[in-house]
Amino acid sequence: MSLTRIGVIGAGTMGSGIAHVCASAGLHVTLIDVSAEALKRGLAAVDDILQRQVRKARICETERAATLARVTTTVDYADLAEADLVIEAATENLELKLRILRQIEEVAGSDTVIATNTSSISITQLAAILQRPARFIGLHFFNPVPAMKLLELIRGLQTDDRTHALVDEFATRIGKTPINVDNAPGFVVNRILIPMLNEAIFVLQEGLASAQDIDTGMQLGCNHPIGPLALADMIGLDTLLAIMQVLHDGFADPKYRPARLLKDLVSAGHLGRKSGRGFYPYASALRGNSNE
Ligand code: NAD
Repeated sequence: MSLTRIGVIGAGTMGSGIAHVCASAGLHVTLIDVSAEALKRGLAAVDDILQRQVRKARICETERAATLARVTTTVDYADLAEADLVIEAATENLELKLRILRQIEEVAGSDTVIATNTSSISITQLAAILQRPARFIGLHFFNPVPAMKLLELIRGLQTDDRTHALVDEFATRIGKTPINVDNAPGFVVNRILIPMLNEAIFVLQEGLASAQDIDTGMQLGCNHPIGPLALADMIGLDTLLAIMQVLHDGFADPKYRPARLLKDLVSAGHLGRKSGRGFYPYASALRGNSNE
């Protein structure tokens, strides 16, 4: 058996990207959200990616239309009855995710694999509310989904080998490279990346170097494509703080304490690119001075 009929819950940033990569791999996707407007936006996001691919001559117009036609949108969870794999990619909120997972299990077949794209919630904890926790797994995609090759496969304590093998094959089929990860706060990539960004903020806070010099240091000294503070602004400082708090709470280890400057910037509403100001200003041309 392989997973070919895919349900995706949530048509936001990640859900639309996941729908795109699945449909592009020839799989049939049922995309679910709470309203017709949210679904319209999600489908438009899928089409935007496809149109960009047509402009870059990566796919032709016929392929664009055929790929889009493989995505069906609905607000009705009952339409998941035939799905082999349902990927939950709704808003990051524990209560909401628990409710959605129960809803999926009510309508899905007993063999259906259920996955979550959560960035921070324990896979083992989510699995615990399911009737068939062995069929549940974390599938952590990276943003933007069409461009990022990595897929973290996160086994909860309950996940069985069959479920893992099926999603491993699915990952390869949609053109991603899977890595196997045990369930722990931050999984692997965020566990390493986010404290590194937090450390760059400590360095700035201590006045060791300017924001621009910290970023230049990591770009030219470590070959990073973007400096840590510019990346923090791109991710969103509120998101960064939330992940640091998950690591700090989850491990109860002071090495994960968020930098005071990060907390201050979030309190001030300086959230990075999305608010027009973080370590750099974004309203006009990007200037590299944290004091601006
Ligand atoms: P988003 O806000 O862009 O989209 C969330 C969508 O879920 C919205 O369209 C919302 O209407 C929908 N939704 C809410 N309740 C629902 C319900 N009951 N049924 C169906 N749909 C519902 O969020 P996002 O950035 O796409 O994040 C989604 C998930 O992916 C989160 O768990 C997040 O932690 C995770 N994630 C995000 C990123 C990222 O960089 N954005 C990266 C990896 C993982």
